[in-house]
Amino acid sequence: MPIIDVAVPVPLRQTFSYSSEQLVAVGARVKVPFGRRQLVGVVVASRAEPEHSSENDTPVKLKAIAEVLDNSPLFNTTLIALAQWLSGYYHHPIGEVWATLMPSKLRKGALLSDAQPGWMLSEEGHDPKAIAGLRGKKQQQCLELLNQGPLASDEVKAQFSAAVIKALEDKGLIEATLITHPPAGDWQHFTLQQTPPTASTEQGVAIAAINQQPGQFVPYLLDGVTGSGKTEVYLQVIEPVLRQGRQVLILVPEIGLTPQTVGRFERRFGIAVGVLHSQMTDTARLQVWQQARRGDIGIIIGTRSAIFTPLKSPGMIIVDEEHDESFKQQDGLRYHARDLAVKRAHNEQVPLILGSATPSLESLNNALNKRYTHLTLQHRAGGASHTQLKVLDSRDQPLHAGIAQGLISIMRSHLQQGNQVLVFLNRRGFAPAVLCHHCGQSVDCASCERPFTYHKSQGRLQCHHCGASRRMPTQCGSCHSADLQTSGIGTEQLEQGLGKLFPDIAQVRIDSDAVKGKDKLINRLDEINARKYQLLVGTQILSKGHHFPHVTLVVVLDCDGALFSADFRAAEKLAQLITQLAGRAGRANKPGEMWLQTDNPGHPLLQDLINNGFSHFARQALQERKLAQLPPLSSQAVFRGEANDASQVINFLQQVKQCYGVSADVAHGSFIGPLPCLIEKRQGRFRFMLIMQCQQRAALHSWLKHHLKDVESLPLAAKVRWSLDIDPVDF
Ligand code: ADP
Ligand code: ZN
Ligand code: ZN
Repeated sequence: MPIIDVAVPVPLRQTFSYSSEQLVAVGARVKVPFGRRQLVGVVVASRAEPEHSSENDTPVKLKAIAEVLDNSPLFNTTLIALAQWLSGYYHHPIGEVWATLMPSKLRKGALLSDAQPGWMLSEEGHDPKAIAGLRGKKQQQCLELLNQGPLASDEVKAQFSAAVIKALEDKGLIEATLITHPPAGDWQHFTLQQTPPTASTEQGVAIAAINQQPGQFVPYLLDGVTGSGKTEVYLQVIEPVLRQGRQVLILVPEIGLTPQTVGRFERRFGIAVGVLHSQMTDTARLQVWQQARRGDIGIIIGTRSAIFTPLKSPGMIIVDEEHDESFKQQDGLRYHARDLAVKRAHNEQVPLILGSATPSLESLNNALNKRYTHLTLQHRAGGASHTQLKVLDSRDQPLHAGIAQGLISIMRSHLQQGNQVLVFLNRRGFAPAVLCHHCGQSVDCASCERPFTYHKSQGRLQCHHCGASRRMPTQCGSCHSADLQTSGIGTEQLEQGLGKLFPDIAQVRIDSDAVKGKDKLINRLDEINARKYQLLVGTQILSKGHHFPHVTLVVVLDCDGALFSADFRAAEKLAQLITQLAGRAGRANKPGEMWLQTDNPGHPLLQDLINNGFSHFARQALQERKLAQLPPLSSQAVFRGEANDASQVINFLQQVKQCYGVSADVAHGSFIGPLPCLIEKRQGRFRFMLIMQCQQRAALHSWLKHHLKDVESLPLAAKVRWSLDIDPVDF
């Protein structure tokens, strides 16, 4: 009887063998008994003969698989190879890797079929009198919709209530049917819907370089300032790829995936674009996944997990804003979609474009080392000018709503000219702390031991680490004084203060409190570009991807915290943020300026950015990382642990260190820690980390692998909540 090895979604670093009536294709899903449950796993090997243990030759008694879910492999060989690579590189159980790779419906065992249930008009329903005879408006609309052809149940359900559908069915006007998908779409035979702008010289060089080497793995770093026309380069290089009938996969940060972005691709080629993001229904997601797998769509745009989309005939992978932190998954399988894109493009033998105005030091390092082809766009497209960066020394200046007097006059002059002004403050809420005016004690979240943020509109305190919320106390918890005062400024207070300073100016606040949900954000952004508001206040949502052609002044308040952070990446992140923010301003031939208000005007990071720009800063930062032997000039992995008892976590990490300490064979490997995480306590649990570092990536991985089993069998490993993060990006 054949033996099947199955990757089962359990946290164990192994596959499990089952017996089967027949051979099952590698890459197909099966349902298998596991303990008292039945789980959906993926077949990783299938062989005709059972293995005999060499010593006593009795065959091992295996359980039988319960059900074969796919008659043919669901995943092709490149995705199977990718899963194996993921499991090895991230030291993650293969069954859980597969569970991460699959859309949730498939993970739950849904049968994949090319036909799906749908609704169509019955014979009576086709009678024009049927619609006229209906009372309910919704019923009429539903009938009109189905008059255009049968439709999948899910799509009908998305627009009409179950009651409407049932009523029409009861009246015999509609009936259930099965919808089969149309054969592969004809997307490769498009005609351009717009004449592309003539490429600038820089764009032309980039486009020619990319077009010269089709159909093979060549990684490019498209390093172009904001507004330099990177998206236009993507549009022009994917055209020949699509014409060859090859698909293009484009990854974007979560916040960058707007109808505007998708619309740009749709408008150029006049073909449907498949969209994948975290807020879609499972059904919709599976549908796009299937379309991509069948080759029915040519362009797929998605966020992080879209890197797992199966492609029938892959032609190119693009990662836009490749520096963005949202590409790193922060729990479970902690993969980096950008790194995975490199691996996948390599496996698929297709070109890879990483685009950014502020490339990650990882990618820049690869470009400078000639592992990636470095393409640069230094000029803004269409003649728009660069934003001027300036520092405003706020020491000893009177502040109004947290803004220095000098800056207020600059703001006023921009507003008087009818332009928009963007004020950035990366702190939501009214005030980041409430202090006792008598004894100085702050009102803290008990489980995180950090001050609560005051949210005035709700009249409540909120912990920004764990989300806990409580009423504003009437007196101090330690001295009982009733004199409690807020300290510091958040966007809510800034908005209020600006309202007083500029009472006649229409203002909008964009942060996660004021703008809940993607649709609302998109509406606000449209209103901003329609010039409904002149003053824009907000957090980093404002720094990403959106263009504000009428903004001529960007004001950044309070970036001093990041200048002195313990995170070695803080400078890189701040420089990216400032550069990205600067890129929001001064399009459409309106020159822009940006002011950084700081108490540290002479700080070398700020000076370097202002005088020499991001690319100079980034090269300097790489030199510093080299001297300090920090990533990307070395490789890191971090063990994190958390528990209610701090000493338990520290002990566990000490023991982890001992597990590894005994191997003296690792050249240049070292440990940092255990030390507290940057957020030391969250929801009552103490958090510590142990950083492992090696100059060579390969050495780090073999070292890690060598003793991971020992770590897992530590008694404390069952008591402490712990994880392993490869190439961590935050602490
Ligand atoms: P990026 O992706 O680098 O931010 P975009 O591709 O969005 O830049 O281009 C910025 C603006 O310049 C867009 O409005 C775009 O239509 C325009 N643009 C891009 N390339 C050209 C070009 N070669 N000629 C004229 N306008 C261009
Ligand atoms: Zn007090
Ligand atoms: Zn808390």
